[in-house]
Amino acid sequence: MKKSSKNIVWSKRGLLSRLFLENGLQHWKKYAIAFFFMFLVAATTSLSAWIMRDVINEIFIERDQDKIFSVAAAVFVIFLIKGAATYGQIVILAKVGNRIVANLQKRLFDHMLNQRIDFYEQFTIGDLATRFSHNAQAAREAINLFVISIGRDLLSVIGLTCVMIVQNPEMSLVALFVAPPAILGVTILIRRIKAIARAEFASLTKIVTIVQESSIGARVVKSFGLEPIMRKEMHHAVTSVQERADSMARITAATSPLMEVLGGIAISLVILYAGWQVVGDGADPGAFFSFITALLLAYEPAKRLARLNVNLQAHLVGVDIMYKLLDLPPAILENSDAKTLEPEQASVVLKNVSFSYGEATTLKGLSLEAPKGKTTALVGPSGGGKSTIFSLIERFYDPIEGQVLISGVDIKTVTFESLRNSIAYVSQNPFLFDGSVKHNIWLGRTGATMDEIIEAAKAANAHDFIESLPEGYETRVGEDGAMLSGGQRQRIAIARAMLRDAPILLLDEATAALDAESEAYITGAIERLKEGRTTLVIAHRLSTIRHAALIHVIKEGKVVQSGTHDALVSQEGLYQQLHRLQFSNSSI
Ligand code: ADP
Repeated sequence: MKKSSKNIVWSKRGLLSRLFLENGLQHWKKYAIAFFFMFLVAATTSLSAWIMRDVINEIFIERDQDKIFSVAAAVFVIFLIKGAATYGQIVILAKVGNRIVANLQKRLFDHMLNQRIDFYEQFTIGDLATRFSHNAQAAREAINLFVISIGRDLLSVIGLTCVMIVQNPEMSLVALFVAPPAILGVTILIRRIKAIARAEFASLTKIVTIVQESSIGARVVKSFGLEPIMRKEMHHAVTSVQERADSMARITAATSPLMEVLGGIAISLVILYAGWQVVGDGADPGAFFSFITALLLAYEPAKRLARLNVNLQAHLVGVDIMYKLLDLPPAILENSDAKTLEPEQASVVLKNVSFSYGEATTLKGLSLEAPKGKTTALVGPSGGGKSTIFSLIERFYDPIEGQVLISGVDIKTVTFESLRNSIAYVSQNPFLFDGSVKHNIWLGRTGATMDEIIEAAKAANAHDFIESLPEGYETRVGEDGAMLSGGQRQRIAIARAMLRDAPILLLDEATAALDAESEAYITGAIERLKEGRTTLVIAHRLSTIRHAALIHVIKEGKVVQSGTHDALVSQEGLYQQLHRLQFSNSSI
């Protein structure tokens, strides 16, 4: 049985040793104490078998009255030590395990924050959530299972085997006959458990994704009557997790009949052989009892050791999935000699920029300028590359060719912190965090005082409606600001950008129109926000950019026209066509 545990170390050595090196090594002192306790457990277990010889020979056969008290006291002390050591071992391992999970989750999250923006397109929330919870726990389970098996079970089996060998070497040989078939049986079961554990991860991920989509997309689900479809998908995912869990339980449990039968064979053989020796040849009955006790006591830890590989595989599949995420290369890296971008530097220039997300080229040698302190508008058909330009200015991606310059400085040469501090992005479909109104504005510049928050809210035409909320600035906005109207969310986002007070403002105008009152409030707030800043606005309605200092018309990754509204309207070209189209629509 010892051999089967050795097998584990070799078969999954890479993943296991990585787990220990990265997570276990720093807790070596605690593990050393836990191992000491586990040694005590193994030693006391072996002693309890050893002492059976005295119980039988001295008390029952020799009828030595003096020994009764000392043997009983020794048995009591042995079990007292065993109880205390077991307690210590469980508590220490649980605490170390919890710390390992916490550290892994922090590492996973840090890693996630450092990923490129397209990382969030690759992984669904369901996938990430499962890796964070289920897979990080799997790491603890794998480590603890391994440590306990090696520390307590293997030491116990070794100790008890020593007792058996000392008491009767020939019978020990008989008992060990069952080891090879046990190893073979377990190896077959392991192959099946790995396949199931991987499939289980996929179904778990699906469950989280469906819950998330049904909740975020609740309006669409309800208005399109998609409940039956969502229900069906969920039932399917839940059922497959259930079926996989059943198969997993069946396979894990299959080790029990295997071990019971083999154990039964071993014990029967020993009884036959020993009985014949004791009854027929008058061998020492104390030694026989001691041997049988050691064998019976070794049986449980040996069973656990045999099952270890099966259980470990299920956990290691989870660990493997978690490491796949941790091993993704980090996002675009900052230059080691990156400079600080001075906040007052503020013209934005794209010079011969080419960029592609994959196969197709999205920007084709595009050049444009956004002069300092003025408003520059980007217009053009959808899919032309306007949002991509914003992503490049924020350095979510690097261009394949060309440069993005802020006041003449290539943004590749500056620190991320100073670059992002120079830019405020306001989408007209803004995201709010589940927290108070105050918190959501404060995120614009962490460290701002309450007075500054209120001042920003006033400038964003948001103060009055915030005051009228049930708890004013402390009112919780709900997930993605669900408690607020579209116009209110928008003004909170503007207040956030106001507080940020960055010299560059990226504004993505909403396609959907708001009601007239909200519109008026928001337009006023945005005008105030734009004051003195270099503003780039993606405009869908040409009426909003009539007064822009410069307009770039973007089509298929190129600037096809540039100029003021008046100049462009009087020129033949795309802008004139767009203008005519919107003018005729608005006049209907
Ligand atoms: P616009 O803002 O002008 O509508 P975008 O910059 O959003 O244009 O898109 C330009 C092109 O790049 C489109 O063809 C779009 O399909 C593609 N695109 C945008 N974002 C991604 C992305 N994350 N991955 C792959 N392709 C993308």
